[in-house]
Order: sequence, then C-alpha cells, then structure tokens
Amino acid sequence: MSTALVFVEVLDGKIAEITYELLDVARQMVGEDGTVTALAVTRQEMLKDLGKADRILLAANPNDQYLPDVLGKTLAKAIESTQPDIVLAGSTAVGLDVATYAACRTGYGSVAYVQKVAQAGDGWMAEALILGGKMVASVEVPARSVLQVIAGVGNAEQGRAEGTPPVETLEAEAAARTAYYGLTMPDTSDVDITKQDVLVSIGRGIGDKDNVEIAEELAEALGAVVSASRPIIDAGWMPKSRQVGKSGQKVKPKVYLALGISGAPEHLEGMRDAELIIAVNTDPKAPIFDVAHYGIVEDLLDFVPLLTEKINE
Ligand SMILES: Cc1cc2nc3c(=O)[nH]c(=O)nc-3n(C[C@H](O)[C@H](O)[C@H](O)COP(=O)(O)OP(=O)(O)OC[C@H]3O[C@@H](n4cnc5c(N)ncnc54)[C@H](O)[C@@H]3O)c2cc1C
Repeated sequence: MSTALVFVEVLDGKIAEITYELLDVARQMVGEDGTVTALAVTRQEMLKDLGKADRILLAANPNDQYLPDVLGKTLAKAIESTQPDIVLAGSTAVGLDVATYAACRTGYGSVAYVQKVAQAGDGWMAEALILGGKMVASVEVPARSVLQVIAGVGNAEQGRAEGTPPVETLEAEAAARTAYYGLTMPDTSDVDITKQDVLVSIGRGIGDKDNVEIAEELAEALGAVVSASRPIIDAGWMPKSRQVGKSGQKVKPKVYLALGISGAPEHLEGMRDAELIIAVNTDPKAPIFDVAHYGIVEDLLDFVPLLTEKINE
C-alpha cells in the first residue's frame, strides 16, 4: 500500500488550484487503498474542499506568510514524520522553491516539471520537461521521491471534494531566515487577459517591436486582445499585465493563438488549460505543438497578415 504526501499551496490568502490537481494525481498514484496526507501550512479556516485527502497535517501559519525556508523545513519535517513513498508539490514558483529544499534536507529524490506520471512495477515512471521544455526525460520514480507536477496534469475538479478529513497538528518550523514583505500580483489595470475569450499571444518569434502591430491588427479583426510570452515583456514591447505564464497570468480563454512562442514549461503553465490552442511556429518540433489542437508551421510574418486580410474580408 503506497502513501503520498501532498503539499497544499497557499497563495494570496487562498488554496491554489494546483493543490486540487495534486490531490487528483496523488489519488491516482496510490489508488483507493493508499493513503494521501495533505500538508497545509496555513490557518484552520482555510482547509476547504480537501476531502480527497485521508488526513491533513496542519502547521500553523497565522498570516499565510510566504517564508520559503519555514515552509521548506516544515515540509521536510512532515516527510520525516510520515515517511511517504511519494511527495507531490506543484511545479510552480512556490512548489519548486519549497519542495526542492525539502527533498535536499530529507535525501528524497526530486523530479521537477513533471508532465505525466504512470505506475511502473512497484514504482512509477514520470515524464519531465527539461532544457526549458525542449526535451522530455523519462524518469524512474522509486519510493522516497518528490515530484513537482506542472499545472494541468491532474484534474482539479476530480481532486476537489467537500469535507475535511481528520486534522493532526504539526509544529511549523519557527526560525525564519527570510522576511515576508508582501505579495505583488501582476498589474491588471491595463486589460485583464484572464477574462478574455480570445487571446492573440506573441513570443520572441515576432522578431521586432514594429511587428507587434501585425498581432494587434489580427486581434482587432478577431475582437481579441494581445498577450505575450515573457521575453516580449522583458524587452519592454508590451506591459507586464499582458504576460502569460508562471511569472505572469494564468489564462483560460476559449481560443489561444500562440504566434512564435516555443512552449517553454513556464509559458505552458499559464495557458495549457485554454479550450482551443492554435500555434504558429516555423519549427515543427517546437513544444507548443504538443499542447496545440491545431498547428501551423509557417513564418508568422507571412501568415498573420494573410489571416487578418481573410478575416476582414
Ligand atoms: C522562473 C522563470 C519564470 C518564467 N516565467 C515565464 C512566464 O511567465 N511566461 C513566459 O512566457 N516565460 C517565462 N519564463 C521564460 C521561459 O522559460 C521561456 O524562456 C520563454 O517562455 C520563451 O519565450 P518564447 O517562446 O517567446 O521565446 P523562444 O523560446 O525564443 O521561442 C521563439 C519561438 O518562435 C519561433 N519563431 C521564430 N521566428 C518565427 C517566425 N518568423 N514565425 C513563426 N515562429 C517563429 C521559434 O521557432 C521558437 O519556437 C520563465 C522562466 C523562468 C526561469
């Protein structure tokens, strides 16, 4: 009988959606006979919809402060006290920070950017994105491993269940070598890309600031809004409020048109739940095509103006 420990991610005073996805993955990995424990470093009143876990370990964090060393040490303590076969955290900014630290402290193995996991003999096999998503590594996952799982692998609806399983307290590690000053969320005063039905998203393949205009013209023809990958924001070609991805916004439009975006895991994290993904890229092996429903291998500088022209016709 296998055991899993799920790290409950709390961000901005809420349980992050990835937590429910992890509970779904954990349940699939250990089966109905196995035991799923959720470690929540938060407040008692936050423990909602965690019914997929068999029990909760609650370590008090009265103000939900994000202190990576405290969270990491507390997770390590939970691992040491429960000795789970598998530890699951999100392959998110928080999960990568906290779970890698805990793996190092406990001697557990660690696999990040996990996009798939399946039973293999007594253990599991995981597929993990490496080199910024350009390659996929198949990794044997024996017992005593930490997996950081990317958003979209588990099903949050399946992982969310009413009710609170038995709660046991665990003393949170108190000594912090970090200080919490506050959480800064991306500025959404410009336009809220999380609320759009159609996004025309541009990446480094757009080539030049002057070419942003062709994406804006297409967006106008479609009644859409332009969003972007991080390099476009870093170059100052679009405001931060338009950034999709791990350090930007998580979007779920009806249509996501990815123009000249390679599909790095940090970008996929922000858009892989879009209902329909259409990618235009000159490289037929670009990882964006792994998540796209439709792919066009073309130079976007040729294709996009033609598409705009046709739509306007
Ligand atoms: C901690 C951390 C957080 C991050 N957060 C984010 C984030 O929030 N969002 C984000 O996007 N990234 C983020 N990144 C960066 C991420 O790793 C990638 O570097 C980034 O997503 C790559 O952006 P891109 O796809 O636009 O560029 P590239 O990877 O350079 O891809 C450009 C693509 O355009 C294609 N192309 C080139 N010319 C053309 C053309 N004329 N027509 C069609 N296709 C063309 C190329 O084949 C290529 O696939 C983060 C990285 C780290 C380490």
